[in-house]
Amino acid sequence: MRYRKYRLRLLWGKLRRQFLIIFRPRYVGAMRLRRIGACRNCGICCQLGWGCWFHRGLEMETEGGCSRYEMRPSTCRLFPIDQRDLRDRNLLLPHTPCGYSFVTVEEVEEILMGPAPALAVESAHGLSAGHCRAATRKQD
Ligand code: SF4
Repeated sequence: MRYRKYRLRLLWGKLRRQFLIIFRPRYVGAMRLRRIGACRNCGICCQLGWGCWFHRGLEMETEGGCSRYEMRPSTCRLFPIDQRDLRDRNLLLPHTPCGYSFVTVEEVEEILMGPAPALAVESAHGLSAGHCRAATRKQD
């Protein structure tokens, strides 16, 4: 069975995530900035290493089948911390990807250097920075 074959690797991943959360919070925070997407509630990350006692699988259709979803620990809340977690997760469910993925540092910079949201709203209404300046001068 696939699960048994990878058990040691998956358990190691669980320990690694716990270590990162406790001793490398800045790394975890930095990786969160690079994480995009949303959880699809497939519940596979609840099965890494061992099957979680609170995971109810198909009995619950929402919240990934977790009966303690609101009280889940940070190792569950922060999954996946990085690309290695996604690789571990994909050992169990390779054909249905996790809802999360990671962008590169360059892509983050591109997003940060892009147009400010306020300017995007202005241009959506047909206003440019020039229009705003002209309106201000009229009031003077
Ligand atoms: S593996 Fe990804 S999509 Fe599936 S429950 Fe975990 S975080 Fe959500």
